[in-house]
Amino acid sequence: MSVKQVAILGSTGSIGVNTLDVIRAHPERFKVVALTAAKQIERLAEQCVEFKPSIAVVADADGAAKLNRLLQEKKIVTQVLYGPQALVSAVTESGCDTVMAAIVGAAGLVPALAAAQAGKRVLLANKEALVMSGNLFMQAMKAGGGELLPIDSEHNAIFQCLPDRFTKNPSDHLGVEELWLTASGGPFRDKSISDLAGITPEQACAHPNWVMGRKISVDSATMMNKGLEVIEAFWLFGLPLEKIKVLIHPQSVVHSMVRYRDGSVLAQMGQPDMRTPIAYGLAWPERIDAGVAPLNLTQLTGLSFTEPKLTQFPCLSLAFAAAKAGGTAPAVLNAANEVAVAAFLDDGLPYLSIPNVVEHCLNALSPVAADSLETILEADALARQTANQFIHTIQK
Ligand code: NDP
Repeated sequence: MSVKQVAILGSTGSIGVNTLDVIRAHPERFKVVALTAAKQIERLAEQCVEFKPSIAVVADADGAAKLNRLLQEKKIVTQVLYGPQALVSAVTESGCDTVMAAIVGAAGLVPALAAAQAGKRVLLANKEALVMSGNLFMQAMKAGGGELLPIDSEHNAIFQCLPDRFTKNPSDHLGVEELWLTASGGPFRDKSISDLAGITPEQACAHPNWVMGRKISVDSATMMNKGLEVIEAFWLFGLPLEKIKVLIHPQSVVHSMVRYRDGSVLAQMGQPDMRTPIAYGLAWPERIDAGVAPLNLTQLTGLSFTEPKLTQFPCLSLAFAAAKAGGTAPAVLNAANEVAVAAFLDDGLPYLSIPNVVEHCLNALSPVAADSLETILEADALARQTANQFIHTIQK
């Protein structure tokens, strides 16, 4: 068995830490060759001491100096780089064959695209990268000749429920009628929009079933996360948008489903623990121990599925609109949402203003064809500027 050489983009985050947890249990299968972080330098230093990658990347020169100092104290020989271009080096110069793309948000796009172009096995957690670049990313995967394995639990579940031949020839739908993405509904599932006026970041981040980073936790509360996932599924699986459905499933046991023409519905079930899809992606087509407790069906009190109310979750509705508009609209949606969520988490933007910011940007910026990285990054930058200006008027 050859040892997989793994680069982890975003190793200090929730997905990054879970990935290292799976890798730690299988040293005969995986070797970590690159780790990247932004601000959590101590945590990255600890990871470097344990996994001894050849490259470690941080956001800036100060962080790099601090990391170098910490590693010298422990006599660890790891090359320390910094800045956005160094994230690409972690992919192209570390000798990796597998890349876990787990940076949060648009910052992960360029290195994820580099991994696609370089023909790596790409384990895609960073859904924002695919939402922004859609066709460009899928074309880069095709040209690079690597393997794309979805890590988002819903898409990983669908991947597992599709016939193997589907992934090799997505234009042949092999009897697939619909994809059903499940959603927990987040912490405010049973509240009406009028109850949400004074919601704090702590309340929004208190997800009932999953422990995740702060940005995706807020996205889960607004259900923007599910909207981004609909767009992600559209690109990953090549089915028309109207065949991708969302179902609220509060128990988070069924991670998603595929409905077939003959009446069959295939579901993937399991604990709400990201180590399952991570282990699946790392070892595919084999299956390895993920360290996850077995699902005990006799202890489940019942599984329920309902359609989400779009009036209760305006962000979901905006994501559908951006998906339909196409071109750079999903990149605008994503950038506006990132700015609005950061302003909610750190600068007191009211929770209920998040969809207003996104809607304002989608109305202000007409989509154009998303046919190059430059065009996509321009749309992203313009949307950020527009969102910031709009937030400023709200906060005055
Ligand atoms: P976290 O916020 O926990 O971690 C994000 C990681 O990205 C950290 O390592 C962080 O570094 C790094 N990072 C942040 N900003 C930058 C930047 N500008 N440049 C370089 N690196 C940066 O996020 P999650 O792990 O929760 O999520 C990661 C991705 O996976 C997201 O796209 C999310 O949607 C997706 N995902 C997450 C799931 C989960 O369960 N958490 C489930 C499904 C998908 P540092 O910490 O050092 O600042």
